[in-house]
Amino acid sequence: EKTIAVLTSGGDAPGMNAAIRAVVRTGIVKGFRVLGFMRGYNGLINGDYMEMNLRSVSDIIHRGGTMLYTARSPEFKTEEGIQKAIETCKENNIQGVVVVGGDGSFRGARDLSQRGINCIGIPGTIDNDIACSEYTIGFDTAVNTCMQAVDRIRDTAQSHDRCSVVEVMGNNTGHLALHSGIGCGATCILVPEVPYDLKKDVVGRILSYQGTGKKHFIIVVAEGTCNTNALAIQIQALTNIETRETVLGYIQRGGSPNAKDRVVASQMGFRAVELLAQNIGNRVIAMKDGKILDYDITEALGMQKPFEMDLYNMAHDISI
Ligand code: ADP
Repeated sequence: EKTIAVLTSGGDAPGMNAAIRAVVRTGIVKGFRVLGFMRGYNGLINGDYMEMNLRSVSDIIHRGGTMLYTARSPEFKTEEGIQKAIETCKENNIQGVVVVGGDGSFRGARDLSQRGINCIGIPGTIDNDIACSEYTIGFDTAVNTCMQAVDRIRDTAQSHDRCSVVEVMGNNTGHLALHSGIGCGATCILVPEVPYDLKKDVVGRILSYQGTGKKHFIIVVAEGTCNTNALAIQIQALTNIETRETVLGYIQRGGSPNAKDRVVASQMGFRAVELLAQNIGNRVIAMKDGKILDYDITEALGMQKPFEMDLYNMAHDISI
């Protein structure tokens, strides 16, 4: 029986379940037997899977996390591990594997494809850090989660005339910080892509806006930019404004996926199975100008994602 597999790998993101659902339902409609492998590549290595049917993906479209669990699998990076995964695929007559995850997961998918198992990657990460795609599943939900969290922090910063330094995720990129920072009206957005001068770009801004009557300040910082705790201490020392640090942490990864993430996950899952049904592998699904397309995995991994400098500059122009 023609069989395909689906798994989620690396960090989880809201909308992964919607992608699994689309893969399973599309696969079954196209006449495949569909297996859901547990905990990323570990499931392939250990033969740990669930037989999926139309109803096994009921009631998950609105749930965060991933019903298939996810993991980082160091063993899969070894030749022995990958051979075990190939054994599992052969035993179960698996012709294709859909992998929802990030760049690391796509490298694994490329390695498997090169050994004769068609794999399709779907970008799923709140960081929006996949170069070939302007959008990754989970990003919009995470932007909204960050924005709502900062709205609450703003209430208390405002009540105490404080400065709040808020660290958001991003895996060494500033996409999440940029979009959530604009959404919450941050005074400053600090990201790894753009060097900044503490005295001029942060302290100078705070002091000059203080002169226009502004009394509380929100500084959104992408993880990987600097030590946020040290930054908060420096801001307080240099401005004399009481400054508090908040690291948003894992709340950013959870929660019900919003409409955009469910729609994109559904589109991408559908497209992935369409490719497998045509016996095409070694591709990553991507979004470009709002349309769904796909790239060769090696080509995709070699791309660079530009940082949205225009948006970044605009944000600072209006945060005065
Ligand atoms: P993400 O997919 O979110 O980037 P990771 O980088 O942790 O997350 O990758 C997830 C899994 O993909 C790893 O645990 C490993 O099993 C596999 N993987 C990562 N990097 C490679 C690589 N260079 N070659 C083969 N497999 C890899």
